[in-house]
Amino acid sequence: MNADAKHSIKADIAHHVHPQSNLRQHAEKGPTMITHGKGVFIYDSEGREIIDGFSGLGCVSLGYHNERLADAAMGQMNTLPFAPTFYNRSHPRVAELGERLIGLAPGGMNRVMFQCSGSEANDTAIKLLWYTNTANGNPNRRKIIGRVRGYHGNTVATVSLSGQPHMHRKFGLPLPEFKHTELPNYYRFHIDGESEIEFSNRMAAHFEDLVLSEGPETVAAFFAEPAISGGGALMPPEGYWDAMQAVLRKYDIKFVADEVVCGFGRTGNLWGSQTWGLKPDMVSCAKALSAAFFPISALMFKDEMYADMMKNSDEVGVFGHGYTYAGHPVGAAVALEALDIYDEIDLVGHVRKVSETFLARCRALSDHPLVAEVRGVGLFCGLELMKDATKREPFDPSWKVGELVQNFAHDRGLYLRAIGDRMSFMPPLIIKEYEIEIAADRFKAALDDAWAVVR
Ligand code: PLP
Repeated sequence: MNADAKHSIKADIAHHVHPQSNLRQHAEKGPTMITHGKGVFIYDSEGREIIDGFSGLGCVSLGYHNERLADAAMGQMNTLPFAPTFYNRSHPRVAELGERLIGLAPGGMNRVMFQCSGSEANDTAIKLLWYTNTANGNPNRRKIIGRVRGYHGNTVATVSLSGQPHMHRKFGLPLPEFKHTELPNYYRFHIDGESEIEFSNRMAAHFEDLVLSEGPETVAAFFAEPAISGGGALMPPEGYWDAMQAVLRKYDIKFVADEVVCGFGRTGNLWGSQTWGLKPDMVSCAKALSAAFFPISALMFKDEMYADMMKNSDEVGVFGHGYTYAGHPVGAAVALEALDIYDEIDLVGHVRKVSETFLARCRALSDHPLVAEVRGVGLFCGLELMKDATKREPFDPSWKVGELVQNFAHDRGLYLRAIGDRMSFMPPLIIKEYEIEIAADRFKAALDDAWAVVR
């Protein structure tokens, strides 16, 4: 490690407070310092080459090097580096991006708002639900339902909506208007003999019970990812979305599809909503919108909601919401270029093609004594680790088996993410078949390393 890298690590330990990190570990061991990347590979300050099996944070769709995206950013920086979208002002790139996104959006969306992050997009969705419900005669519909272990962001509202206890503890959260329904993890929670459809119907019945106990006239919306990423790459069980959407329709509850991770090809379709037949009222997206080269997110919704916003704007004199960097010209230029690239390389077609190798190699890991269940779609796969797969006996959480596999994988040159004892494997969407083979070999080796410790 050279002197500059040593200095960066020292400075990082001394001053930089890391989000979603163990602060003691940071103080004692310091960070893994990533210095550069190319394709699906990242490189650390110790010269290690690591395959990114988690796409950064589920965002690096086109890998770590792309001259066209860099040129798009530079070109825009040299033309118009900033322009507000407040006060009825606009600029060509953001108008173009709005039109383009609406052209791609799942059915019925006709309006778009821009922000810088997935959290802000979902936070905006919550605010718009509350705002429009005051215009359409439903001011008491304020409760928002998410799922246990779901994740939708880290603002006060979106983290309340997220079902992540470690993000609530000590923060005095969640806020009271946010409720959580069951995590549809069929493998873990099905009753012996219960089919997937029966399990899905039970999940929907739990959801309906929650709606009824809260009072349907107080529930504004249900937020969900088509397939859960933050709770550990969890695919919906058979029949789940049909059963859940029937409850939403029955009680006229709005459905917000969080496409922050699933959007732009991850599941083998442009949207996760297409993969599982979702009919959302609003859609949030971020991450791969700009291939992670620039922070930008979007929230899309229908004209009907916009009409209610118009009513309130007329009454108040302004639509009183927005962020300085909403619709940033550089973000918009990079996103437009990313969307062009997706089309030109047929990214969705590529995901479908390599997904066969990816899923076959993942499924082969189910023979490993640590792996109880493997489920995936596209380039998105979750693996459940268990002490005894047949008895569905989990490991003692204090053993931190998921973290053990994650750490061994890192030593073997593969970045994976453990959420409890679920492993998420979701490489950049441009990954090639031979790179999948290398990553899967490293994954298997990491499982062997962990097995040697816990067997
Ligand atoms: N929604 C989902 C499904 C996410 O995975 C994330 C982040 O990981 C967010 C929302 C929040 O996005 P951001 O971190 O950009 O605020």
